Amino acid sequence: MLYIVATPIGNLKDITFRAIEILKSVDLIACEDTRHTKILLDHYGIKKPTTSFFQHNRFTKGEYLLGLLKKGKNVALVSDAGTPGILDPGYNLINLTIKNNIDMTFIPGPTAFIDALVLSGKPAHEFYFAGFLPNKKIARKNRLIKLSKLECTLVCYESCHRIIAALEDIREVFGEREIVVGRELTKKFEEVLRATPQAILEKLQISKPRGEFVVII
Ligand code: SAM
Repeated sequence: MLYIVATPIGNLKDITFRAIEILKSVDLIACEDTRHTKILLDHYGIKKPTTSFFQHNRFTKGEYLLGLLKKGKNVALVSDAGTPGILDPGYNLINLTIKNNIDMTFIPGPTAFIDALVLSGKPAHEFYFAGFLPNKKIARKNRLIKLSKLECTLVCYESCHRIIAALEDIREVFGEREIVVGRELTKKFEEVLRATPQAILEKLQISKPRGEFVVII
């Protein structure tokens, strides 16, 4: 059986009892980065073999993991942060498992965009999760223009390297309306900025932006 296990997005305490129980019971834990997941496993005294399953080995390692599942082994899939399958290679293994009729289940837990959406106070009964915006300016602007046609709350992920450029484009496309930027959610320096793109830019530009970001428009 494949157990898709959500893990914390920052605060090691954000994990369910069931997730810990499953991680303690499986034969193997497939991790995006084994060193990263080791911190969590050590914290909870979980001593299980791990293997890496990430973007660049997702096809070969996926076949290997499938072989183990077919032999009746129990495998847990975790990502570096949050819910496997939400913008990480978990998606590939989940699909391979479905195609091969192997049982699987999901042990729910944190997802960064749900955390930010709830904290934003913006309408959450209808929202669009746009994932990461394109890296290149023209592609990003075009995507934002398309997204601006939607009549619901928009949610995007962004890294510290591109948050300034993304906010500049958001300011241009959406104008000076109130948006929300969640930074380092659940972590020691968690911050939720509710202001116009210009005001948020001014705040973030005081020093080099650090950490991980979710933008709610
Ligand atoms: N699987 C993850 C999830 O369930 O949310 C998302 C993985 S994606 C590769 C990583 C992105 O998620 C980051 O660049 C950032 O936009 C967002 N993210 C993850 N952890 C976060 C946190 N603690 N605070 C804010 N954003 C976070």
